[in-house]
Amino acid sequence: MNRPQSIERMIDVIKRLPGVGPKMAERLSYYILKMPDSEVNRLIESILKARQVMKSCSVCYNLSEYDPCPVCSDLDRERNVVCVVETPQDLIAVSKVKDYKGLYFVLGGALSPLDAVGPSDIRIDKLIKRLKSDNISEVIIATDTDSKGEMTAVYIAELIKKLGVKVTRLGYGLPVGGDIEYADEVTISMAIAGRKEM
Ligand SMILES: [Zn+2]
Repeated sequence: MNRPQSIERMIDVIKRLPGVGPKMAERLSYYILKMPDSEVNRLIESILKARQVMKSCSVCYNLSEYDPCPVCSDLDRERNVVCVVETPQDLIAVSKVKDYKGLYFVLGGALSPLDAVGPSDIRIDKLIKRLKSDNISEVIIATDTDSKGEMTAVYIAELIKKLGVKVTRLGYGLPVGGDIEYADEVTISMAIAGRKEM
C-alpha cells in the first residue's frame, strides 16, 4: 500500500532540509502527525515569528532582530579589525572567543565552481566596499578549512591586499576540511592567536 498523498507531500518537503535524509524525513513526518495540536502550533509559530523578526544586518550581514546588529552597534569593540566568515552560524562560533574584540563580515557562502557559485554569488563586492569606506587595518579570514573555504580565502585576500589592508588567515589548530561552526572555542581562540599574514 502506498503512503497517503498528504504524508508523502510532508515527507517530500521535510526531506529538502539540510542534513535530513528520506528516512529521517519519514520519521519526523509521522512524529509531527502524532504531536498534540498545541505543540504543532508552537512549532509553526516559532518558525513564522523568527522569519518575521530576523533580518540581515546592513553592515556585517549577520542575522539579527536589530539592524545594525548588537555586534556592529557595540562601541566597545575594536572597529579597525574585521573577521570574515561564511555564515551567521560561523559568526556565532567565533563570537564565543572572548579575546576577539573586533567586528565581522558574513560572506553568505564560499566560492564553489562545481556548484556554479562564483564571486558575484557571495558578498565579496560588499566586503570590498566596506573596507574602502570604513577605517579597517586588518581582515582576519575565517572561512572554513575545506577546499571551498581555502579557495575563497585566497581569492578575497588578493583583492584586500590591493587596498593596502593587512590580511591574515586563521592559524592551523583547526582541522583541515573543517567547518568553523563546529570548532570549539579554545581551538578558534588559538587559531586567531596564531593567525598568519597572507
Ligand atoms: Zn552587524
